[in-house]
Amino acid sequence: MTGPSVVIIGAGVVGAALADELSARGWTDVTVVDQGDVPATGGSSSHAPGLVFQINGSKTMTEMARYTVEKFVELDSFHQVGGLEVATTPERLAELHRRHGWAASWGIETHLLSPEESVARHSLLDPGTVLGGLHIPTDGLAKAVKAVDAQLARARSRGVRVLPRHEVLDITTEGGRVKTVVTDHGELPADIVVCCAGIWGPKVARMVGMELPLVPLAHQLAWTGQVPDLAGQTVEASRPILRHQDADLYYRERFDTLGIGYYGHRPMPVSADDILSVDEAEVMPSVLTFTPDDFADAWTETRRLLPSTRSAKVEEGINGLFSFTTDHLPLLGESRDVAGFWVAEAVWVTHSAGVGRAMAEWLVDGHCGSFDLHECDVNRFEPHQIAPDYVRARGCQNYVEVYDIIHPLQPMEEPRPLRTSPFHVRQRELGATFLEASGWERPQWYEANAPLVAGRDIPTPGDWAARHWSPIVAAEAQATRENVALYDMTALKRLEVGGPGAVAFLQRLTTGDVDKAVGSVTYCLLLDVDGGIRSDVTVARLGPQEFQVGANGNLDLDWFERHRPADVFVRDLTPGTCCVGVWGPKARDLVQPLTRADLRALRYFRGTRTHIGNVPVTMLRLSYVGELGWEIYTTADLGLKLWDTLWEAGRDHGVIAAGRGAFTSLRLEKGYRSFGTDMTFEHDPYEAGLGFAVKLDKGDFIGREALLARKESVTRRLACLLTDEVVMGREPVYDGDRPVGYVTSAAYGHTIGRAIAYAWLPASLATPGRRLHLGYFDRRVEAVVAEEPLFDPAMTRLRG
Ligand SMILES: Cc1cc2nc3c(=O)[nH]c(=O)nc-3n(C[C@H](O)[C@H](O)[C@H](O)COP(=O)(O)OP(=O)(O)OC[C@H]3O[C@@H](n4cnc5c(N)ncnc54)[C@H](O)[C@@H]3O)c2cc1C
Repeated sequence: MTGPSVVIIGAGVVGAALADELSARGWTDVTVVDQGDVPATGGSSSHAPGLVFQINGSKTMTEMARYTVEKFVELDSFHQVGGLEVATTPERLAELHRRHGWAASWGIETHLLSPEESVARHSLLDPGTVLGGLHIPTDGLAKAVKAVDAQLARARSRGVRVLPRHEVLDITTEGGRVKTVVTDHGELPADIVVCCAGIWGPKVARMVGMELPLVPLAHQLAWTGQVPDLAGQTVEASRPILRHQDADLYYRERFDTLGIGYYGHRPMPVSADDILSVDEAEVMPSVLTFTPDDFADAWTETRRLLPSTRSAKVEEGINGLFSFTTDHLPLLGESRDVAGFWVAEAVWVTHSAGVGRAMAEWLVDGHCGSFDLHECDVNRFEPHQIAPDYVRARGCQNYVEVYDIIHPLQPMEEPRPLRTSPFHVRQRELGATFLEASGWERPQWYEANAPLVAGRDIPTPGDWAARHWSPIVAAEAQATRENVALYDMTALKRLEVGGPGAVAFLQRLTTGDVDKAVGSVTYCLLLDVDGGIRSDVTVARLGPQEFQVGANGNLDLDWFERHRPADVFVRDLTPGTCCVGVWGPKARDLVQPLTRADLRALRYFRGTRTHIGNVPVTMLRLSYVGELGWEIYTTADLGLKLWDTLWEAGRDHGVIAAGRGAFTSLRLEKGYRSFGTDMTFEHDPYEAGLGFAVKLDKGDFIGREALLARKESVTRRLACLLTDEVVMGREPVYDGDRPVGYVTSAAYGHTIGRAIAYAWLPASLATPGRRLHLGYFDRRVEAVVAEEPLFDPAMTRLRG
């Protein structure tokens, strides 16, 4: 037996995949426990119909699905019958084009089909109902129980123990670490416990005091009797698995019958505590009694789409339980509070082997090299996002929206508002249109600025880009470059890092040299051990042992906490403070009369503590929009006073409040990257064009060693493109007919008068002047690689 002793709770498709992947990497002191029989335990994997549709807006989820398909094929646990997604409305047809684009971006082969071609692929379809289809040749049917069996068999052959009919009753800890797993058959010592308990996850996590933001929901799956057109079929399935998302339906064959899955019924949440035990449950714990009334519309719609079912009957059905999260994504990673307690939860069969691999790499190597996990990390949530009411409300809404067409800027509707900055009351008076980010109400533009539109040449974007948009966005962007604007930056995460070890700590965690004079501000990166970017941050030294770090989200706080030595403290300042960006050529004229600080002497990337009128503030001379100005911070109680003071003083200078729409446009004109969109864990600084933020000669830091090698082998680059139309992000980039990359951020540049897109490209194509195309719905959009930044490369505005 080698490796630490690991107990995996749950022998469903996730636990089995993890046991296989861990043992393949040499960790064989692994025990898998399950309260049920193995391999059909009574969990969700035991009844899943196993449809694997790989295409997803998330690159990571698509890649995990692709890995699952490849592995299940190898394990003889997959019928690769292909997948077909059909459209019965023009909106869905456009959406299929968008999904075809994602597939090209993430490297999966798909084909758009005419109605006739769709029917030729799936002969049960009514030719008069379908407007078109998307065919994915590598999709198909996973045999989940067989895959569990096969993966556990491989794991067992390497020494892994599998203990069926062992219910975990408790997990003991000592000194903040897991110690034993208590089962109804005795205790198992454990260095690491991984919770792969599916719908029971919240109950198991609570054994170590962890709130897992997951809600089990019942989902309807019905089986017909014989369908005449399938009569005599001797193979389990011959036609592609089918999705009819306009009606929240999917289908698979089972010999001469059809399985029908339905997401259109009312959400039916269940508490993990109320799930019956293996022995109490009539069928199995994850199966509730079918409620035919909830299925009525599904059956009507099925008979419309698939005429051959009109003479068939629904013969059996279940309301099966599986897990939903607040953002559709899985929950992976280690508890922040209890070392050694890991979770791999809210995972579909579709992504299960990918998740198994990701978790195994993470555990064995200390990081996951195969997939970018920033969207899936269980520590990504803000405190309000794990509140039980929030988890339930969002889980139910996500059930409703599983197949909906979601615009990238579409904000959640409920529960809102949650977090409001102290400026909120003024923003409402100015007619702000709010979107939402991490719970914050964030103005996108202000109706009060409507008069600024007159006389400006503002191109009207296409249909999709015109949603959650107004010409006022353009006017606000231009007015920022002409005069001065106030931007609410409160939603930006900020952390206080202090204590005797703070300098050494930040030197070790960041790529920059932050050991500079008090008042300095450093833009730098947090890297993982493989040199991948975990975040980009601004580190302001406000005292000898006191730093304020402008960060991106909760994962940064988590990263700091995990690495923090005893002589360093880290505090999240975000909830108790606020920030306004005052930016534009007249920013100094506005702010200087309000403070005794000499703002001319406060150079670019310097900060100071001072007062604005009666308000104590921290001012950092930074700007994401590429204009003269400051991020001005104060405590939440004085935020409104700060806003009013600036607003009053700004009247003579034509100050406006400007929203996030303008911000994004200005940011892209300056080429400022946004973590999570433009670069993620999988990219290194040199590829991302952020090599300037890495000080290799400052001494050791996390990721340095890996970077030395990566620096010499850059094969892809984040490039700036000028395009003929504003796109949304995630579109494929084509060189001729060959997909070569994908778009990250996109917006119209209202100063330069051109549409901008940033995209990942092979380094050989990322040369200025290179002509390429973007795939945008059913069109090709011309794009040309441009020198960056597009605006003010000499930095005269920022340094002025
Ligand atoms: C009707 C329906 C249709 C679906 N269709 C699809 C589909 O077509 N494609 C797809 O990709 N996904 C589908 N899913 C989702 C998919 O089935 C699940 O997401 C997936 O099976 C979850 O796997 P898991 O290993 O996490 O959970 P499970 O399979 O539920 O395994 C968890 C295991 O943990 C064990 N356990 C829990 N608590 C304890 C304890 N205290 N002690 C010991 N053992 C414990 C349980 O017994 C169980 O075996 C469907 C789900 C449903 C309900």
